[in-house]
Amino acid sequence: MNASHERSTSVWGKSLEHIGSGPIIQDASADFVVVGAGLAGLSIAYELARVGRQVAVLDRGPVGGGMTARTTGHLASDLDDYYHELIRLRGIDEARQVHQAQAAAIDRIEAITREESIACDFKRLDGFLYLAPGTEPDLLEREIEACHAIGFAGVAWAEGAPIPGRETGRCLRFPNQGRFHPLKYLRGLADAVLRHGGRIHTDAVVTGVDDKSNEVVVTLDNGVRLSARGCAVATNSPVNDRVAIHTKQAPYRSYAIAGRVPRGSVPDALTWDTLDAYHYVRLQEHDAEHDWLIVGGESGPGARPMEESWVSSLRDQCVEEDVAFFFKQWGGVFKCRTGRELEGRTWDEMPAHSPSKKLLVLKS
Ligand SMILES: Cc1cc2nc3c(=O)[nH]c(=O)nc-3n(C[C@H](O)[C@H](O)[C@H](O)COP(=O)(O)OP(=O)(O)OC[C@H]3O[C@@H](n4cnc5c(N)ncnc54)[C@H](O)[C@@H]3O)c2cc1C
Repeated sequence: MNASHERSTSVWGKSLEHIGSGPIIQDASADFVVVGAGLAGLSIAYELARVGRQVAVLDRGPVGGGMTARTTGHLASDLDDYYHELIRLRGIDEARQVHQAQAAAIDRIEAITREESIACDFKRLDGFLYLAPGTEPDLLEREIEACHAIGFAGVAWAEGAPIPGRETGRCLRFPNQGRFHPLKYLRGLADAVLRHGGRIHTDAVVTGVDDKSNEVVVTLDNGVRLSARGCAVATNSPVNDRVAIHTKQAPYRSYAIAGRVPRGSVPDALTWDTLDAYHYVRLQEHDAEHDWLIVGGESGPGARPMEESWVSSLRDQCVEEDVAFFFKQWGGVFKCRTGRELEGRTWDEMPAHSPSKKLLVLKS
């Protein structure tokens, strides 16, 4: 299922329904076929189209209907699984290459944003990693040592992460990280692909990718075939290979809450902790008075239960500030059993129901 089929809507808005050249109904050819019109697929298509290749992008849904619509858009050259762990597993050289690739990807997004004049709220800012209770006490020491060993410039100790009302203790500061609005960026990429002569076909479900000796033949569920010199499958989880990758994948579900906060009340930074899954916070510019605060929490097996006081405190603050409050669910492993009532009722406020209010959404 794509995110565009889910009931909840991301703070980024809906997927980009009206972009593209429509469905494909007859056999065709291209220099290169890209399957998937998310961040990965359109990034590949853009790089090819801008150097004059004839590119056809195929997606079973709309542009941006996959996970790209759900990302928190936190552009980090640190590593979720930690560089000290990667060095242990693969050695310093490979860890250095991974870091260089991550940093280069952010640089490339920044450059494309500038070259194509994409207004996607891209911003460079610092990231802060702090120790969560119950996690290994020397984890940050090992990570800063690893960062220095692989040449991650400027990683340093900071007195505390900039989270108002929270004493995080000493933490690591990663300079030159980034954030953006993913769907605004994707829209800019899609427009650029089309402008450079590429085609984007939506409602095009790929059922087969046949790699022959001198061409690749991509087959759709309506029987249409596209032949090309090359093909990239950028479907997040591969559709052309059912064994090599899928047996190494595990399904995860992350949860994020978005709420409006008065402009300037929360320092603009990326912050996250050392739990697995970790919590993180970032800001997104919204309007002249308010920013969006996006908070991610625990999910999946081992997720700690949410305490009622956390939710009721958020609800109380919303009531006080006249902010619309939507409570999605308690979460945990068996969500259908825990339900979504808080103090005997559900909370489904949205700006459409109460236009004068600001929005806070707890979302899965
Ligand atoms: C809550 C959450 C927070 C996240 N936060 C971050 C973050 O802060 N930073 C970060 O870097 N990453 C983050 N991620 C991960 C990030 O969102 C994804 O890695 C990224 O968006 C994947 O992009 P993609 O183009 O590979 O896949 P998608 O955006 O999922 O695109 C794949 C496309 O392939 C299409 N497709 C699938 N099968 C077929 C088929 N058979 N035929 C045709 N088309 C097909 C789909 O319709 C879809 O449009 C987060 C993810 C989530 C869910």
